[in-house]
Amino acid sequence: MNKPIRTRFAPSPTGFLHMGSLRTALYCFLFTRKHGGTFILRIEDTDQERQVPGATEVIYNTLRDCGIRWDEGPDVGGPAAPYIQSQRKDSYLPYARELVESGHAYYCFCTREDLAHRRRQAEALGETWKYDKHCLHLAKDDIQAKLDAGTPYVIRQNTPATGESGFDDLVYGHIAAPNNTLDDMVLIKADGMPTYNFANVIDDHLMGISHVIRGMEYLSSTPKYNLLYKALGWEIPQYIHLPNVMRDSQHKLSKRDGDAYYSDFIQKGYLTEALINYLALVGWNPGDEREFFTMEELVEAFSVSGLSKSPAIFDLNKLTWFNAEYIRRLPFEDYLGRATPWFEQVLKGKGIDYRRLSELMQGRTEVFGRIPDMVRFLAETPDFDKELYLNKKQKSTGESLLPALKLSRDILSPLSPWAEEVLHDALMAGIQEAGMKNGTVLWPLRVAISGQASTPGGAIEIAGILGKEETLRRLGAAIEDLQKQDERNDL
Ligand code: GLU
Repeated sequence: MNKPIRTRFAPSPTGFLHMGSLRTALYCFLFTRKHGGTFILRIEDTDQERQVPGATEVIYNTLRDCGIRWDEGPDVGGPAAPYIQSQRKDSYLPYARELVESGHAYYCFCTREDLAHRRRQAEALGETWKYDKHCLHLAKDDIQAKLDAGTPYVIRQNTPATGESGFDDLVYGHIAAPNNTLDDMVLIKADGMPTYNFANVIDDHLMGISHVIRGMEYLSSTPKYNLLYKALGWEIPQYIHLPNVMRDSQHKLSKRDGDAYYSDFIQKGYLTEALINYLALVGWNPGDEREFFTMEELVEAFSVSGLSKSPAIFDLNKLTWFNAEYIRRLPFEDYLGRATPWFEQVLKGKGIDYRRLSELMQGRTEVFGRIPDMVRFLAETPDFDKELYLNKKQKSTGESLLPALKLSRDILSPLSPWAEEVLHDALMAGIQEAGMKNGTVLWPLRVAISGQASTPGGAIEIAGILGKEETLRRLGAAIEDLQKQDERNDL
């Protein structure tokens, strides 16, 4: 095919952008850039009932955030404008009439009730219902009279009763359907709007689309679309259908679990770059071991032969792993800037040095949204289980515990300035002098002032961040607590 490469991403503005749609947009973009083609954004808003106000803006913003740029589209214009289907409303009916003229479509006046009734009858006989071509057989005069009287109608495709329609999908291979299994789908609705089924054909042709890249839910309808292309004497595009993005082999990504939409992940503190990198690999592989890609590298590496037709599993753990890697690689200032609002959620007004905290946290942050839970202990010591004092490795026993904490207090109380090196040197010297082991002292100290089994940084870093007053307050409280417990045990 010598046609110039032109592709389109054609979302319906029905809400936030689903991860599966975003992946479609990404593959479409990668394919087009790789081949030096033109990438078009088309807004498919012919189903007025499903419109969500603001959804088009969400689509623009999401694609822009992700670095997916379109060459033609509603906001940038282009030779095939307008790119919003509702603004093209008048261009569909003439083609539908042409199909009626040539016998490939027909007016249908059946009411909802008629259809529901005949469907029930068919189902009672155990048949699968498809439109029974009732109105195909209306006499010409009858049709004209109904039209003249303003009777509401739809226009349906007239699928052939015999033969087979097939095509070669670049991912799924040869797909064929006997024509008598194809439904006479509605092309123009009673409100005059085209259905998706019709509009996609007309617009893909008028926009000169060479490759249709979309979700596999359209695979089984594509033979019907191809019949329309043929009836109108148009060239059929190449098709690249993509498997669904699934949470696991049984479940789709779901709104309820908060893993369906791009915005869900951004709100939780995933990085766009990590999402895009991982998403590219959900259903495509580069054919080598590489895992990390910039957008340019994806364009370079992308090929249709790397697309898989089995359902693509979106593995949250794998995404989180990618995200942690991307966070680790962020320039420090960038990390600090992004982490600060999450610190603020729990540490606001606590006088914590976010810069030092960021140094300790960057290598441990898998997802920004997990930061508040990780640092909350800096705002207040949680109640903790005394078992935490017992470090398995260091075998810090009940006996050494109180002396160890008291030793820490004695060492730390007079220190000034309260700087990490000062704390470090004093603790090391004091522990050695007391003839104790580092772990025997530092482990319980860290537990006493954090109440956590694991913390970003050790006892010294945590004490440094908490400041002198708060460290000594927590340490004092822990000692008092243990002493009370000892007294009780003595009774
Ligand atoms: N508007 C359709 C959707 O959002 C697009 C399908 C297509 O790309 O043809 O699913």
